[in-house]
Amino acid sequence: MSTSRYNCTIIGAGASGLFTAARILLQRPGTKVALIDSNPRCGKKLMLTGSGRCNFTNSDLRLSAYNTDDPAKLSRALDRFGSSDAIDFFENVLGVLTTNKGDLYYPATFRAGTVVDALRFFVEEHGCQMINGNKVKEIHKDKDLFELVLDDGSKLLSEKTVVATGGFTYPKTGSEGDVKYLMTGLLSYKDFIDFSCSLVPLYSDDQSLKTIAGIRIPATVTLDDGKEQTEASGELQITKEGGLSGICIFDLSGRAVRAVDSGIEPVIYINFCNAEPGECCLMAAVRAKMFPERSLSAAFSGIIQRTVLDYILKKTGYKCNMPAKDLSYDDLVRIADALTSFPVKISSYGKPADAQVSQGGVKLSSLDESMQVKKTEGLYVVGEAVNVDGICGGYNLQWAWTSAALCADGIIGEL
Ligand SMILES: Cc1cc2nc3c(=O)[nH]c(=O)nc-3n(C[C@H](O)[C@H](O)[C@H](O)COP(=O)(O)OP(=O)(O)OC[C@H]3O[C@@H](n4cnc5c(N)ncnc54)[C@H](O)[C@@H]3O)c2cc1C
Repeated sequence: MSTSRYNCTIIGAGASGLFTAARILLQRPGTKVALIDSNPRCGKKLMLTGSGRCNFTNSDLRLSAYNTDDPAKLSRALDRFGSSDAIDFFENVLGVLTTNKGDLYYPATFRAGTVVDALRFFVEEHGCQMINGNKVKEIHKDKDLFELVLDDGSKLLSEKTVVATGGFTYPKTGSEGDVKYLMTGLLSYKDFIDFSCSLVPLYSDDQSLKTIAGIRIPATVTLDDGKEQTEASGELQITKEGGLSGICIFDLSGRAVRAVDSGIEPVIYINFCNAEPGECCLMAAVRAKMFPERSLSAAFSGIIQRTVLDYILKKTGYKCNMPAKDLSYDDLVRIADALTSFPVKISSYGKPADAQVSQGGVKLSSLDESMQVKKTEGLYVVGEAVNVDGICGGYNLQWAWTSAALCADGIIGEL
């Protein structure tokens, strides 16, 4: 088998790997770069992003949207390459028109394929060697050179190598959590946090939620993980398995998963009315007075979807056909409390195949400001393989671009 030699090898042609290659080749044309991916085509996960529309960044880039072991370094990284830099790169380097819905940015075509194509065209035109359908199995370092061993037995040599293999969720896209075994011997176990899920449905042992499976309702949800309370709003979905899903749940899921993993049973309080309890009580009291002969289910059906209302009434111990006129003030308070703060104990969460993002990976604190492994000169880690994960809204792809840009700039400075 032949051994080719490069200035830089990049393992993984997803968002962060493609961007790293593009930025190196933009700043230093002629650099010998190889981009290796186990899939026959690059950017498989990127194609799925934003339901195929690719929400590639968010102009409200706040630290609180992220989870990491090194918030100060993350903050510096986002300052050095933020959302306006990503938009500028897409528009002025890759030629991709962009558009926004509030703070959320998309390609103007609303097609993730536009972003994948733009990155692929750019790196190919700039001489990047694309090695597709071949998995990197081992990385060795001998003096100043890295040797990569591929599935087909071939070997690549390079001065720098970048691990851009993503996390362990949605493994059908090729991201199978390889960073951990690839870096055995180059990192200590203390530099790595085991992968877990984020942006994932949450489950309760209470099977009764299955009776309202399929429901989609605007809600405000509050997670109590025993340490603090965190709130999110948006469409709440009840999955066919009786799990909680939707963007508001995804945004709290990282924290809920960490609580479950550490043996705590967090509680999600659902406000189905997006109103204060007193306000909800008043709305119910007004309707009980307007429609005294109606059943509770009919009298309050103008406040909240009837399926959900009936479920809450039953769970709170009321018969749906009870006449509204029979409610006491205490009953109204009780029903309003249940509608605005319905507790669901979380005991588990979805599988990696259902999670949009991984939490865990190589600790950000084990990398320098250029994403270079502090203990192994010339070795870099970017994107989801690093212990940085964000909520929904373009934050995860922004991390892929940010880490890739800092890595590329660091490599260019060293070559
Ligand atoms: C359904 C879905 C929707 C999403 N929507 C959004 C969104 O709208 N906005 C947003 O910001 N984020 C979104 N995300 C998250 C975002 O896609 C990821 O955070 C991002 O793709 C991570 O980029 P990456 O380059 O680190 O990893 P990936 O994109 O996962 O790329 C890693 C690549 O490495 C390759 N690879 C892995 N191991 C090896 C190996 N040993 N050898 C060779 N190749 C290897 C894989 O085949 C893969 O192509 C979404 C995720 C999912 C699953």
